[in-house]
This record gives sequence, structure tokens and C-alpha cells, in this order.
Amino acid sequence: MRRVGLNGRVIAEHDVLVVGAGLAGMRAAIAAHDAGADVALVSKLHPTRSHSGAAEGGINAALGNNAADSPESHAFDTVKGSDYLGDQDAIEIFADEAPGDIYELERWGCIFSRDENGRIAQRPFGAASSPRAIYSADITGHVLLQVCYEQLMKRALRVYEEFYAWKLVSDGDRCVGVISWDLLRGGLKSIGAKTVILATGGAGRLYAGTTNAYACTGDGAVMALHAGVPLKDLEFMQFHPTTLFPSGILITEGCRGEGGTLLNAEGERFMERYAPQKLELASRDVVSRSEQTEIDAGRGVNGSVLLDLRHLGRERIVSRLPGTREVTLTFLGIDPINEPIPVRPGAHYHMGGVDTDVDGRTVLGGLYAAGEVACVSVHGANRLGGNSLMETITFGRRAGAAAAEEALGQPARPVPEGAERDAERELGELLDRTAGERPWSIRDELARSMHENFGLFRREEQMQSQIEIVAGLRERYRSVLVEDKGSVFNTDLTQALELGSLLDLAACMLEPGLAREESRGAHSRPDDFPERDDENFLRHSLVTWENGEPELGWKPVTVTKWQPAARTY
Ligand SMILES: Cc1cc2nc3c(=O)[nH]c(=O)nc-3n(C[C@H](O)[C@H](O)[C@H](O)COP(=O)(O)OP(=O)(O)OC[C@H]3O[C@@H](n4cnc5c(N)ncnc54)[C@H](O)[C@@H]3O)c2cc1C
Repeated sequence: MRRVGLNGRVIAEHDVLVVGAGLAGMRAAIAAHDAGADVALVSKLHPTRSHSGAAEGGINAALGNNAADSPESHAFDTVKGSDYLGDQDAIEIFADEAPGDIYELERWGCIFSRDENGRIAQRPFGAASSPRAIYSADITGHVLLQVCYEQLMKRALRVYEEFYAWKLVSDGDRCVGVISWDLLRGGLKSIGAKTVILATGGAGRLYAGTTNAYACTGDGAVMALHAGVPLKDLEFMQFHPTTLFPSGILITEGCRGEGGTLLNAEGERFMERYAPQKLELASRDVVSRSEQTEIDAGRGVNGSVLLDLRHLGRERIVSRLPGTREVTLTFLGIDPINEPIPVRPGAHYHMGGVDTDVDGRTVLGGLYAAGEVACVSVHGANRLGGNSLMETITFGRRAGAAAAEEALGQPARPVPEGAERDAERELGELLDRTAGERPWSIRDELARSMHENFGLFRREEQMQSQIEIVAGLRERYRSVLVEDKGSVFNTDLTQALELGSLLDLAACMLEPGLAREESRGAHSRPDDFPERDDENFLRHSLVTWENGEPELGWKPVTVTKWQPAARTY
């Protein structure tokens, strides 16, 4: 039986509480602190283990260092890349503010790679009209994360580390805190806050083949959903064109930016047929679909295509892509200096997320979101490589500043006792269960079936069947069994809670997927609706949670300057 005491109780109160300590969370916390608020962060991982640290290839801002560029051009590329589903007011703010944010990061100590004149170097990335991706070799996320962590320590910000945030607490129309499970000591802990910022990252673990870490389980999105906040554009999951066969580890777009080419089994550079101008640097949705088409037509190699870097030469590979070489040598024994790398599309980035305005505000008073968990929406139906890291910084900063300003004008409200009692009862029921199904079988079935039925290409019959599969898995989850009843690092418990998030999120993705009867960006329906349909679907999907089930609504897209046009590369 259960050995753990739940003891839900308020352990602290802050002006601003940030849930998540990746790039978005740390940047938000720094901005909120600098605006005068008392700030703390909650994170299930140590901050520098956050998945932002895995980012490799680059971060986009129109510095124009290596070729003429402008924020206007960055904004247009992003709008076109989004297949016109991105909100253009948000995209304009994003492109205008990105260069200033990069210089600030540099002043904080980010060591960016340099060009021959000593300026910050910029490499070409997919669907960008100029070389725009700023980088630190191919460990850009690692460098950014360490520098932001230094800034966090410099300000002595409190981090509730290894706290698993489980529920948002609302008091009427406002969010007033967060209830977490203390991973190190056990027990439920409540933290009160005048404003809360969700920055919990993505949900790639919904899919069997993904570049995402085990921690990317969509917790924050589901916390918001359960608190009555709509989730936007969830049907759009990006499949990255170059994930290593068979492990799914990311091979950065920087490889193609440096001149890498994609070949099929016949040695043909097949992108010449699909995107004659941009070739391998067409947008990710286009390149991934082209690869899968080749593989499905029998021109693949073991379910993959080949990424060829050999012509770049040893020196360039060693200096610009050392991390890639290390990964291929370690995991496949392949040295890209001598051999091409087998790659295939894999789930990578969730364009959808918590519906926010351009300052990260949600419809629930006091609740904000930033980074991959949020949908501002800058990426629309397809994100451009390099835009996500920039989004974490620019919109993390904006959300932090806005949340601080709101908090400083608010009286503190206590966390209602009823919320803690309810959470204790719910967790107690889970821990007291002595028979049932282990979480892993449900989790594996979910990931396998999502990959198969709601992946790169979508078909009505498969989506219908996936809705039933997910409903069945949710039913089985009601009797999920947590065997470990202990209180110290009970990963059995947290994995069960994460699975709950994944299941609810999957249910919410399928509804808009089925309803969106068109092909746009990452949502491709080749058989029944192969074209984009602006008349009926130039709109965001919005899912809310009603009586434990997803309910679908829609919301207009903001168009400022760029009318939808055909998208060719
Ligand atoms: C392999 C890889 C390479 C990439 N390369 C690039 C690139 O080159 N350029 C680019 O622009 N983008 C890239 N991306 C995308 C980009 O890195 C991510 O979208 C971005 O870093 C996400 O940052 P984030 O702060 O939103 O989330 P994360 O960095 O994932 O941080 C999430 C935080 O939330 C915390 N958390 C989550 N759930 C809970 C919970 N329940 N309780 C408490 N804490 C919680 C975690 O502990 C963590 O601190 C890449 C992505 C991957 C997977």
C-alpha cells in the first residue's frame, strides 16, 4: 500500500511563477524579475537538462550580416512558411524584435560562430530567402541554455527543481497558483502566484519516431486545457525531414544549410523534382513529404533516404557540424566525411498549443504561456527551422514582462483549500490502486498508433479509427496501475501522470485533424483534400475541454499585409 504522504499544502507565494525552465521559461523569468516582480520557476528537470539544450542548427533573426536581409523579409518567409495560417501581427512583432534579442543574448555571453570578417555568421535554413540562422556550430540550444541559466543564477532566482507541476489552481476567473508533486521528497506542494506562465515545451512523445526527449509530454497544454483555456491549431505536428535511422535522433537542418543533399536509392537528387528552386532547403513539410513519397514508391533505403555531406569536405564537417558527426559515428558507426547518412521524417515540433495573444496572455486571468507549449501563432501550419528558438526568447521575454506588470497591480489571492483537497483525493485514488494495467503498454500503443494513423499523411479512415483507439486507451487509463508506492523519485507515478496528459492531448488533436478538410502545411490529406482551401479553412482550430471530452471551435487568422498566395519553393 501507499507509503507516501500527500500533504498538499502551500509552501510559498510569488508574484510570478513560471512553470518550465527551458529557454522560454528562463527568458520569461528573467524579464519578469527585471520588471520588478518576485519570480520563481518550477521544473520537473534541472533547467540545463531542458530540451532546448538539444537544439542544434540555429536561431533566426534578420541581422543581414552575410547577405541583404530585413525583418520584413523574415516576416514574409515566416508567413509563407506557415502556409498563411500564422497570425501576421504576431509575426511582424517577432521579426522586428528578434535582432535586438540576439544582440542582448550576445551581450550576456552567447558565443556565436563568426564569419571571416568577425561578424556573427548566418547560415541558410529551409525556406529562408537569405542566410538568417545564427548559430554556435551545431550546439546552438546548448549555448543559449547555459547562458540563460547564468543569467538566472546572477539574479538568484528561486527554482523549485524536480517539481512535477500537475494542476493549475483557479479562484473564480483567475489563476492563483500551481499544485506540483515534489519528485525528490514526495508529497503535493502548492505554490501561490499572482500570475503564472506556462513554458513546458512540446509533446513529441505522442509519436513513436520523434526527436523529442522523454520529458516532452505536453503537460502544460493539458493543465491549461483542464483549467478552461482553449488550445489552438493542435492538428499541426511538424515532421522533420532528417532524423537518424533508426533511432530518430535529429540531424540538423544546418547540414542542408551547409550544402548537404538528399539522395534516393538510385542516387538521384530527388528534390529537383519536388522543389526545383529551393531543393533541400524547401520548407520542412515539403521536404518530409517528398522523402516519404520516395520511400513509399520503393526508392528508399531501408525505409530511409540518404543525406550526403561528403562533398562538403572534412574541414567544413568538422568545424561546422561536429555534433552531427559525433552522433552518426556513435549511433551508426557512420562517418559523414566518407558515407551518406540514412535519414527519414520524424515527429519534431508541435505548432499548436495554448492560445495566447502577442504578450502570452490567455483567456484565464493571470495565466500566460510562452515557447513551444504556446500558440501565439507565429508558425501557423508549418514552422521554419530556426524560428522556434527565436520564439522562446522573444515571446518568453514579452510574456515575462506582461505577467510581471499584471502581477504588480494585483493583490495576492490564497490558493483555495478545496483545490488541494481535490488534488490529494485524485492522487490518492491513483496510488491506492492495487490492480490494473501498467502505463507503458498504453503509452507504446498510443505512440505507435499516432505515428501510423495521424502522421505525415492523413486519411479519413485512419483518423476515424485513431479517434476510437485513443478513446479505448483513455478508458484503459482509468485503471492504470502505479506499482511504486514510494515518495522518492517515483518515476512510475510521474510517467503515469504524463501519460494522462498525452492521452488527452491526442484526443484534442484528432478532432480538428478530421474536421480540417484541406491540406495545409503539416496537415496533408493527399487522397480526399489535397489542396489548401482558404475559403473554408483559413482559420485557427480551437479545442476546449467540456465534460472530459474535446469540443471544437474556430477563430479567424489575422492578416495584415500578405494575402494568401500559392506556396511554391
Ligand atoms: C533535437 C531538436 C533540435 C532542435 N533544433 C532547433 C534549432 O536548431 N532551431 C530552432 O529554432 N528550434 C530547434 N528545435 C526546437 C526548439 O529547440 C524547441 O521548440 C524549444 O527549445 C522549446 O523550448 P521551450 O522552452 O518551450 O521548452 P523546453 O526547452 O522543452 O523546456 C520545457 C521545460 O518545461 C519543464 N516541464 C515540462 N513539463 C513540466 C511539468 N509537468 N512540471 C514541471 N516542469 C515541466 C521541463 O522541465 C523544461 O524545463 C529543436 C528541437 C529538437 C527536439
